[in-house]
Amino acid sequence: QQPFLSVRDLKVHFSTEDGIVKAVDGLSFDIARGQTLGIVGESGSGKSVTNLTILGLHDPARTRIDGEILLDGQELLTASERTLEKLRGNKMSMIFQDALASLSPYHTIGTQIAEVYRKHTGASKKEARARAIEMLTRVGIPQPDVRVDDYPHQFSGGMRQRAMIAMALVCDPELLIADEPTTALDVTVQAQIMDLLKDLQQEFGTAIIFITHDLGVIADIADDVLVMYGGRCVERGTKKQVLGNPQHPYTLGLLNSMPALDGPVDVPLSPIPGSPPSLLNPPTGCRFHPRCAFAEKVAGGKCSSAQPVLEVIDGRGSACHLETSQRDALFADYAATA
Ligand code: SF4
Ligand code: MG
Repeated sequence: QQPFLSVRDLKVHFSTEDGIVKAVDGLSFDIARGQTLGIVGESGSGKSVTNLTILGLHDPARTRIDGEILLDGQELLTASERTLEKLRGNKMSMIFQDALASLSPYHTIGTQIAEVYRKHTGASKKEARARAIEMLTRVGIPQPDVRVDDYPHQFSGGMRQRAMIAMALVCDPELLIADEPTTALDVTVQAQIMDLLKDLQQEFGTAIIFITHDLGVIADIADDVLVMYGGRCVERGTKKQVLGNPQHPYTLGLLNSMPALDGPVDVPLSPIPGSPPSLLNPPTGCRFHPRCAFAEKVAGGKCSSAQPVLEVIDGRGSACHLETSQRDALFADYAATA
């Protein structure tokens, strides 16, 4: 069976005054219907760029895109702007960290949700308003038939985030891209929004790409996980595989820099030393080598000269020169001392 969304060898390069920024540099993944793929990485790892590319939101004059993106069998990279317009909001939609950026301050919440619905369904104003109230009810806005006439500034941050979710889901999209949608919220509201997304996914069977820098969020929501570093995927697998048995030093580092999911919160954490790579001049060889605690364990300076290949078998793989046996021993030691 064909995956619902399939991304093949995607490359997204931007022309800037300083040179070519290789924001995404050879990325492949699939998602099935109703599944959640968590994409995790630091800022600048290419996760947001990947998803804006799926939605077709880059300036074509300054962006060079190669590869293939198939949504339900349809190629998106060669699709016309008209086709993409039809797909956006309808078959695929997106929620962001900042609801204020996707809601207009000049129109009521209800009007904005209704407009998206009318654009894609041709419904009457009356039908669309009823639909907006229905969606606000579904995302848990109290008194939806009254609040539908509020402006975004009359909503709290958490309510705006819910309204944005209502707007994203108003046309029953089959793919929802969620880019750090809870990062700006306090922990309680964050948990409520995560629960809401899970419920809505159950109800609508939506496939979700969940982008985050937070492995705790991944642990909560993802089925499969893709770890990005410097525009590439360095590790992928099921959530259990990636979080329970990481195979890449970067993933191991991320896990060590977050509180244990079920452990005490006050254990000292060890952030990964160094900073994310330049995408103008990425490090040679393995892009992680300047920060990797294990680079010198690989013979012949291979880490700084040869780029490791991501080999994926049954959805599981990592891109690292360490031998499997060597890695198991080194990671066990690392865990013991960290
Ligand atoms: Fe570290 Fe080398 Fe593996 Fe890269 S290839 S993650 S530098 S050990
Ligand atoms: Mg981002």
